[in-house]
Amino acid sequence: MRPWKLAETNYGTVKQQQFEVAVLPLGATEPHNLHLPYSADTLEGDLVGERICEAAHQRGAKVILLPTVPYGTQTNQMNLPLALNLNPSTLGAVVGDLVDSLVRHGILKIVLLNSHGGNELKPVLRELYGWSPAKLFLCNWYNIFADVYHEIFAEKDDHAGEMETSLAMAYYPELIARNPDGSLTADEGRTAPTRFEAINRGWVSITRPWHLLTTNAGAGNPHAASAEKGRRLMELLVDRLATFLVELSAAKVDERFPY
Ligand SMILES: [Zn+2]
Repeated sequence: MRPWKLAETNYGTVKQQQFEVAVLPLGATEPHNLHLPYSADTLEGDLVGERICEAAHQRGAKVILLPTVPYGTQTNQMNLPLALNLNPSTLGAVVGDLVDSLVRHGILKIVLLNSHGGNELKPVLRELYGWSPAKLFLCNWYNIFADVYHEIFAEKDDHAGEMETSLAMAYYPELIARNPDGSLTADEGRTAPTRFEAINRGWVSITRPWHLLTTNAGAGNPHAASAEKGRRLMELLVDRLATFLVELSAAKVDERFPY
């Protein structure tokens, strides 16, 4: 039983503690090329959440890891079978209710640890800022290592590519589909350009219809992935995020917080 993980701990333990920081991971249920499970983003939420909370707990942080929300926003993946959608407004309402629960239990410092690019959570922070005493922090963990990404990985990864597949190889290899020769069942994860240069260059953005963008739901070539790369990435995430949790746990919420 890990006392920093709510899903495993119990009332007898919890009622003797006052937690300073809650970490709420947010995942998704969606296809990930032909080789990764539908729960990939949810498993990543569990995994990254566990590693960073364990490290922070060992360094004295009063942190509690909440169960990962297993559904996310998939409006642009509904042509792919069994992608399960929560609209942005629904997801925002779910997060708002959970934040309100935490505030009632006296936890004001709350970290949203997001694994899924379709989950737009910044508007939730802006809206809750208007009426909730909660201090909300958003971490899209897949965005926090751009400075060293190419020291670890060869290929860009948008979805089910080298980075996500490396994490799977390191931490849940039993859920990766492989051919009899050991290769991944995945395709190359190529993505199609739109007919507009302004969109392809990123000057104008859209929500991308995934069935037109990809061939099998993958965006990024996964074939150079390795367990070693996944472990290196996790070390980096723990190094950066556990330190933040330790500092956040120790920080006093005063009128100038977080400045
Ligand atoms: Zn994913």
